[in-house]
Amino acid sequence: MKFIAEVFYLIAALLFVTGLKKMSKPETARNGNFLSSFGMLIAIVATLVHYNILDWTYIIGGILAGSVIGLILAKTVKMTEMPQMVALLNGYGGLASLLVGFAEFSRQFYDVTNPDVMHSIDLYTSITIILTVLVGAITFSGSIIAWAKLKEVMTGKPILFKGQQFVNAAILIAAVVGGVMFCINPADSYYIFIALIGIGLILGITSVIPIGGADMPVVISLLNSYSGIAACLAGFVIQNNALIVTGSLVGASGIILTKIMCKAMNRSLANVLFSGFGAVQVKSGSGEKGEVNPVSVEDAYALLEAANSVCIVPGYGLAVAQAQHACRELADLLEKKGTEVRFAIHPVAGRMPGHMNVLLAEANVSYDHLYEMDAVNPIINTVDICLVIGANDVVNPAAREDKSSPIYGMPIINVDYSRTVIVMKRSMATGFAGIENPLFYKSNTRMLFGDAKNVLQGLVAEFKKV
Ligand code: NDP
Repeated sequence: MKFIAEVFYLIAALLFVTGLKKMSKPETARNGNFLSSFGMLIAIVATLVHYNILDWTYIIGGILAGSVIGLILAKTVKMTEMPQMVALLNGYGGLASLLVGFAEFSRQFYDVTNPDVMHSIDLYTSITIILTVLVGAITFSGSIIAWAKLKEVMTGKPILFKGQQFVNAAILIAAVVGGVMFCINPADSYYIFIALIGIGLILGITSVIPIGGADMPVVISLLNSYSGIAACLAGFVIQNNALIVTGSLVGASGIILTKIMCKAMNRSLANVLFSGFGAVQVKSGSGEKGEVNPVSVEDAYALLEAANSVCIVPGYGLAVAQAQHACRELADLLEKKGTEVRFAIHPVAGRMPGHMNVLLAEANVSYDHLYEMDAVNPIINTVDICLVIGANDVVNPAAREDKSSPIYGMPIINVDYSRTVIVMKRSMATGFAGIENPLFYKSNTRMLFGDAKNVLQGLVAEFKKV
């Protein structure tokens, strides 16, 4: 019977890997998602049938309750709230691993018929249990803090205090010392075990509170990776190959995504984790700002009408306004009159990796119109108009020009190098990183104020008039 379960696990693992591979291309991503989910279903059913863990009524009740909650969350969550949801799901993953470690600790150590008797267990089991519990606890509390920051339940800015790195190092040392003590003598370490759960929870909080602003994408992908590592460790604890494979796939892909996000920010992981992004006081209202040049929809239409090439740079505001369909309609109209249209995608635009790609795919913008930042920057000085729609941080020239800026060094789409920039947003407000944007004051920038969807619909109406 175990052999049959392992064969199903192997099939599930093959489906996970194939699914992941397919997810790397937008055309095959849906299919990849389906294959991976199907693999997970196979793994779950094989586990339940083989291990016969609990009364089936509990299991079916749990599956139904979980599915209903998941379905409601997935159906009601707004696209712009996906990062919060991902943060929460990472946290649940960490909590689940923590509970597996805890349950296994209780099962292996205690004699339920006589609570005073504790069994001794081998070194392998105690190491895997304690690592599972620690990584699970860090992932859980860290993800809850990330969720609270993104949801704006707490400040999104870094929380820094004197001696913070010293405190973090002390907590980390306490975790290592406690872990070693537990592994040496697990039978007498009940209180150490409980304390280690607390230490893991505190470590999750203290390691995420100093991170904020534009560095949040890195944190989300890192916590995603932690949740995979915790699940993989839990797999070693209960010796379940499906959990080991799934956990290591999530852990490894999370690390790759973290690396991609760090590259997008041009920062090392250590720099993100320890430098306290955005803690620098941001200058505001200081001289050399220049004039703001507001334009009306009619003026913007006249500029676009005369352009031979237009590069559309979408950002978070496009998602908030749900303006992707109007945006595609405008692009179609421009192309129809012979204008060359490109969409330039910054890797951290929006609030989750691939956010803009998903939005534009929803509006049926074809993939060959999408250009990555590195592909568009070298030709941007040949573009007549860059139309920035609800983007701010990802086009902020301070990242290139102002050494004192917290985002200095982050690669941006150099829209200000094009002949004219039209920035579509509602006000002069800052973006996610809370940093002023000198782009709005440049002589070749025109500010087109308003909700992106309304303004785009206005532009579409102008084009349709003729
Ligand atoms: P920003 O958050 O920098 O700016 C978005 C702009 O959209 C705002 O300045 C806002 O200005 C405008 N806006 C909001 N609503 C509307 C609307 N209805 N119509 C028109 N404009 C609107 O977005 P970017 O995409 O440029 O940058 C993403 C930021 O988010 C980066 O700092 C990134 O690090 C961070 N981040 C990214 C994640 C990812 O994985 N991609 C995850 C977490 C954070 P106004 O209010 O004036 O309209």
